[in-house]
Amino acid sequence: MEIKNIDDIGEFGLIERISSKFKNYRKSTVLGIGDDSGIIDNSKLLTLVSSDMLIEGIHFDLSFFPLKHLGYKSVIVNLSDIYAMNGNPNQIILNIGISSKFSIKAIDQFYEGIKVACSEYNIDLIGGDTTSSLKGLVISCTAIGTVSKKNITRRSGAKENDVICVSGDLGRSFLGLKILQREKRIFLNNPKMQPKLNTYKNIIEKQLRPKARLDVISILKENKIIPSSMIDISDGLTSDLIHLSKNSNLGVKIFEQKIPVLDETKSVSKEFNLDFINCALNGGEEYELLFSISIKEYDLIKSKGIDITPIGYFTKNKNNIIVLSNNNEKVLKPFGWDHFN
Ligand code: ADP
Ligand code: MG
Repeated sequence: MEIKNIDDIGEFGLIERISSKFKNYRKSTVLGIGDDSGIIDNSKLLTLVSSDMLIEGIHFDLSFFPLKHLGYKSVIVNLSDIYAMNGNPNQIILNIGISSKFSIKAIDQFYEGIKVACSEYNIDLIGGDTTSSLKGLVISCTAIGTVSKKNITRRSGAKENDVICVSGDLGRSFLGLKILQREKRIFLNNPKMQPKLNTYKNIIEKQLRPKARLDVISILKENKIIPSSMIDISDGLTSDLIHLSKNSNLGVKIFEQKIPVLDETKSVSKEFNLDFINCALNGGEEYELLFSISIKEYDLIKSKGIDITPIGYFTKNKNNIIVLSNNNEKVLKPFGWDHFN
């Protein structure tokens, strides 16, 4: 008999199936899956812990989000939080609640994505919990990492005149979601229409397969730079920048023209009649790093060939300001930002 349903192998069978596919990479993992608790040896380093919950229908839509990508992204968003503290993620714990509509094949695909993320970032899956849910998929992932006391970067340390830097480009993840939602609507209206996703590959990729910016953390470390403040962009540039300014007790001045947006993102925003700067300022799920460093430190890394863009600086004046392309200034507010010339 072919095994198709989770009921055929039971909870313990499923846990065994999951654990058999994973190996451990980290020396600090003393014990992984299999006992009542995992064991980690972090010696003298501080331990960082961060957790996220993802609920079907609230945080993701399985009609256009492949399970493999969902598994991958569930891990990435947590690793990103540990990098945002200037730390190294080493282990994850991942809990799932699954309804009877999921086949073993579906769960395998989900864990395949988790495995890819773990192997790309050398992360050990050291435990979790498996339970049934009445309806839909529930995911809770916790990442565990380390950082030395002197390297730790919080949201609160920015200094006046520090340069505000952002990695990568913005607005792409939000527009990727818009495209996926649009293609779903077209498909529901006419199931014979196949989604035209190839033309938008790069935009959709940021939504379905975001990166955690280990490369940025590594470049900073190589150059002995400890950012004065840092956050990863999960809610949107504006919201997350305001977190830094509030926590650091300062204001910011950023420049519209400096905000990194790809030409592709600009043209897709036109299709949706959206202002691309608005998408870049308010679009979430970018998982880029937003951080502050001194002008001297910025000079040191600007020629290192990494996609870090200076977009402004911290000010003693506590207003958060954006300087528009026409040199007019506007108060930076999450969501309520509308573009005028
Ligand atoms: P307990 O009843 O003591 O909580 P479980 O039977 O739930 O133990 O889990 C047994 C082992 O399997 C533990 O090490 C737990 O961390 C691990 N485990 C359970 N579910 C998962 C999962 N979905 N992914 C990874 N490890 C899991
Ligand atoms: Mg348990």
